[in-house]
Amino acid sequence: MVGHCANPNCNKPLHYLREGKVFLFSRKNASKQNSKTLQLLEYYWLCGACSNEWTLTMDGENGIQVVERKRRRFRATYRAPSAAPAL
Ligand SMILES: [Zn+2]
Repeated sequence: MVGHCANPNCNKPLHYLREGKVFLFSRKNASKQNSKTLQLLEYYWLCGACSNEWTLTMDGENGIQVVERKRRRFRATYRAPSAAPAL
């Protein structure tokens, strides 16, 4: 169960899901007993403040990583026409 923000530098306790973002990752775990591959689902949560700047990724070697969100390549440059009437 998710109890805290996944950012280890924050670790804010989860009280409500009104803020932040929930991540679901799937891991495959080979069972040694019967050679079946099991799929494990794991939930993680980033609080509102962290989810604005960070996201989670899963790396096969390093597991779950907190990484900075990529900055948007394009900024909105559209400006609405001026509402002031021409006199
Ligand atoms: Zn946080």
